[in-house]
Amino acid sequence: MSHPLSPYPDACVIPGTPLADAREGIDACVHCGFCLPACPTYLTLEDENDSPRGRIVLMKSIVEGTLPVDDPDVRTHIDQCLGCRACETACPSGVPYGHLLEATRATLTARKPNPPIARLILFVFARRTLTRLAMFGGRVARGLRVSWLLSRLPGRLGFAMAMLESTRLPLKRRKYEASGDGARGSAALLTGCVMEGLYAHTNRATERTLTVNGYRMVGAPAQRCCGALHAHAGDDDAARKLARANVAAFELCGADYIVANAAGCGAMMKEYGRLLADDTAWHERAAAVAARVRDVSELLADAGPKPGGEVRTTVTYDAPCHLLHAQRIAAPPLAVLAAVPGLARVPLEGSEHCCGSAGIYNLIEPDVSDRVLAPKLANIAASSAPLVATGNPGCLMQIGAGLRQAHMKARAVHPVDLLDASYGVERG
Ligand code: SF4
Ligand code: SF4
Repeated sequence: MSHPLSPYPDACVIPGTPLADAREGIDACVHCGFCLPACPTYLTLEDENDSPRGRIVLMKSIVEGTLPVDDPDVRTHIDQCLGCRACETACPSGVPYGHLLEATRATLTARKPNPPIARLILFVFARRTLTRLAMFGGRVARGLRVSWLLSRLPGRLGFAMAMLESTRLPLKRRKYEASGDGARGSAALLTGCVMEGLYAHTNRATERTLTVNGYRMVGAPAQRCCGALHAHAGDDDAARKLARANVAAFELCGADYIVANAAGCGAMMKEYGRLLADDTAWHERAAAVAARVRDVSELLADAGPKPGGEVRTTVTYDAPCHLLHAQRIAAPPLAVLAAVPGLARVPLEGSEHCCGSAGIYNLIEPDVSDRVLAPKLANIAASSAPLVATGNPGCLMQIGAGLRQAHMKARAVHPVDLLDASYGVERG
């Protein structure tokens, strides 16, 4: 059904596709252009077709048949979208751009598959054993300093190795025994593929800091990858399969909260109800699980969080797009950093702009990704902070790799790792 003010007719040449089903969202765009200054690809590429408004016109043209669904230029402009959803935050008309993008990608990839590297990554992340093997290989390369050696190479291999190298914890911290009264309820951690594989230290820090702040941690052993990479790349079937597995796993654990410390994964889980909207057997269950999902910063901020011992350094904060724009969470991560005594906080210009990571975007669209990252690195340099805090593994690795390859001293760190270091000073 078309929006009553839509200037477009109701014609649809691709009925039954995800994009045709998303038509109401497309028609909600009134082409005002308020989203343009918020869009990193528009600011970088200076092409209307690489703006939210331009891409929505392309989507509409596909639905109406004025552009063929397999038009290679359309595919390029849609592929070049970061999916950062900054346009959603800027849009006064409530256009659900993230949903439109996923529907477009699902429609286009049904005609022409993603490139082989993207399909390989999605294949691996949909299978628990392969994911664990890949993460084990990453840890071995990191432990033997192969990633350090190869990170000096030019090109994508060098950048990928710099990403791996940047997953090391850039802080010294004392071990401590976490204890608390559990009065705030129970919480189950979405351990995540990359988080548990390469950021296990952050997962343990998440469990400890939540425990100190009154949450009782419980396990959800049958959980899987959240499916975000698959949904963003148009592989809806794989995303739904993973979502069903997670709904069952988190129902079973019975926790009051499901906690994510990866912004992209949390955003995905909060949308499980929509993802399974057409699945009558699972929709209600998925929506109930989604309603229990919280970012770790939300739970910590609700509890204070309790202050710890002094950590004398300076940090600046970069907002992950899937925290700020997709989940609309701005203040809680800053509250986590503010709870660390001795930690000086300095602002980061453009912290609301994407860093260019965007899931697997930096591997399949390296040139645009690099160009989006460049102003971020310049702003970090201008802040003079030795640490950049951000709560998403993709952003941690993208910024961390960029800093290393630019020979900058600053390092990327998860906000929870700083709070945990503070508790280590007090309790260690
Ligand atoms: S701000 Fe919203 S309504 Fe305006 S052009 Fe952008 S997407 Fe369309
Ligand atoms: S999701 Fe991000 S990159 Fe894509 S159109 Fe919106 S603002 Fe631009």
